[in-house]
Amino acid sequence: MTEKLFILDMSSENWEEWVQSHGFPRFRADQIFAWLIKGVIRPNEMTNLPRGITEALENDFNSEAFVVDKETISKIDGTRKFVFRLGDQNRIETVWMKYRFGNSVCISSQAGCKMGCAFCASAHAGFGRDLTAGEMLGQVLVPARITSERVSRVVVMGIGEPFDNYDQLIAFLDMANSPKGLNLGARHITVSTCGLVPQMIEFMCVNKQVNLSVSLHAANDDLRSQLMPVNKKYSLDQLISAAREYVEKTGRRITFEYALLNGINDSVADAGQLAVLLKGINAHINLIAANEFPGTSFSRSPQKVVNAFRSELERLGMNVTVRREMGSDIMAACGQLRRGLGEIEKK
Ligand code: SF4
Repeated sequence: MTEKLFILDMSSENWEEWVQSHGFPRFRADQIFAWLIKGVIRPNEMTNLPRGITEALENDFNSEAFVVDKETISKIDGTRKFVFRLGDQNRIETVWMKYRFGNSVCISSQAGCKMGCAFCASAHAGFGRDLTAGEMLGQVLVPARITSERVSRVVVMGIGEPFDNYDQLIAFLDMANSPKGLNLGARHITVSTCGLVPQMIEFMCVNKQVNLSVSLHAANDDLRSQLMPVNKKYSLDQLISAAREYVEKTGRRITFEYALLNGINDSVADAGQLAVLLKGINAHINLIAANEFPGTSFSRSPQKVVNAFRSELERLGMNVTVRREMGSDIMAACGQLRRGLGEIEKK
């Protein structure tokens, strides 16, 4: 038996073909698509469709795919974490954050991650599979429906390495950007990579105006290879020259994420090394006070160490901010997301 498709993996063109192939009038395609864009993904809730169409939808698509398994709300800042159960029982996490400028959604691109970063909960939970573009879209549409609020920004920074799921990522970005889809300006979307250099190069050639963020976390190869195995494949030299090329080709600024780990990468000397590494690049450095999660020996740098690191970078002329922490009490902060529930506790 072939597996049924997830309903959000159909484009508006696909819906025209689908209604025609079932002998339904063409305008029904627009009606179905309008429901989906509102985050209504169960056919029995599409109240203006006749029974024959909802039955055909139930028959052709997996209605059990993409169920909210759990929703947690932070008492500190109102951040919401959604756990979605997919059609094959894999589970993923999505984080909804409220900022002054509007709502930002941090979505996952894979169920789990293969990259094995030492400080990241997602890596500890193992890899399940790549997400489809529709499953990425669902992480924006369904929370928007639940909260009845608009999304102003999407960051592909949750579980998974987006460039390791390149084709589905590009299909999602097209849906997000399209006036018929999320209608979000490319500059309101950020993709984060741990440093898959060939895909970075391919991405800049597509010339999307999407923001690119690179997780750096160390300014020398020895330390970075210990923290991020991807560095053994693509060295800092390769990564930084791809970043320079990205800035030159796209004319866009690039962001480097740097999670400060207590006693590991957070000395003033580390800050100096980082400034030398990024010298001359139109870059922004985003410091993150690393978040802890059960099962890891890493701990976050004390505030005074974070301040000293930041001051040193500023003194050296770097453009730097410290990222505001969101949802740490519900394990929704950076590095705390994981695939499913319980995998860490089992280890
Ligand atoms: S930090 Fe990102 S790339 Fe590294 S293991 Fe975690 S999810 Fe994967």
